[in-house]
Amino acid sequence: MSDTFAIVIHGGAGTISADTMTPEKHKAYTEGLKAALDAGYTILAKGGTSLDAVQAAVTSLEDCPLFNAGKGAVFNNKGQHEMDAAIMNGKDKTAGAVCGISRAKNPVAVARAVMEHTEHVLLAGEGANQFAEAQGLPLEDDAYFYNEFRYRQWQEALQEDKVQLDHSEKKMGTVGAVALDQFGNLAASTSTGGMTNKKYGRVGDSPLIGAGTWADNNTCAISCTGHGELFIRSVVAYDIACLMSYGKESLHDACNEVVMQKLVAIGGEGGLIAIDKAGNIEMPFNSSGMYRAYRRNNGEEKIAIYK
Ligand code: ASP
Repeated sequence: MSDTFAIVIHGGAGTISADTMTPEKHKAYTEGLKAALDAGYTILAKGGTSLDAVQAAVTSLEDCPLFNAGKGAVFNNKGQHEMDAAIMNGKDKTAGAVCGISRAKNPVAVARAVMEHTEHVLLAGEGANQFAEAQGLPLEDDAYFYNEFRYRQWQEALQEDKVQLDHSEKKMGTVGAVALDQFGNLAASTSTGGMTNKKYGRVGDSPLIGAGTWADNNTCAISCTGHGELFIRSVVAYDIACLMSYGKESLHDACNEVVMQKLVAIGGEGGLIAIDKAGNIEMPFNSSGMYRAYRRNNGEEKIAIYK
């Protein structure tokens, strides 16, 4: 048994400025993050697994319309919602993921089912939708995912003919969680609607094991948020694990090297949350803000948005 356990969550990284954040919005985001922390931490405190804890935290964030995942997922170029999610168990490196899924209420639940009920790791598009249905997981129609605010965001992006990633506090919100449980096991999960006005069929880093999501008891658990294409090209999450295992770097040094040096060098805006088997926590980001929070069993807790 481990005498330390903890959960870390994020709700997306990007250009978030205190100037455009009203007190009401600040409160709403903070409450959304706190609800997710509570959902995950309660499981850990009761002796549950890190896998269940990260799923519970991500589910809570998927159900909150403020974040770009599940209910609050952004619109793609065709005015549709195509969501990506992944979950990984650090104990045995099993993983499950979905990409381009459009009807599941909670993409993370489908990712977990892929991990536990198929011999595959990643299911895409209509196949993922049909799998979710066959598993009896909750589905929703377009009305559930419709959000006036996201719609306007998409319309703006359409007019400007660009793909929007987190360029203002309005466009943020990929979600993720990493945790260490009382058994010393790590787990990670990430869920997203991707980028506003992204091409139909575009897949980001979040559902790609090693790019946006990673968990391995020997090194760390990671969930990323940021410009997915750059995170894929940098294999961000696995690079950190490699710097730790081959390079013998600490979690802190590995995260810093990847987020503040390697990603910055290629213009990869974003950040990540990370935890190792000793319970060390890192939440680095090279953007102006990242919705982030953690809670440890010693009572230490932090909820933050800006640098
Ligand atoms: N990484 C996500 C993607 O590229 C977006 C984000 O983190 O906000 O799909």
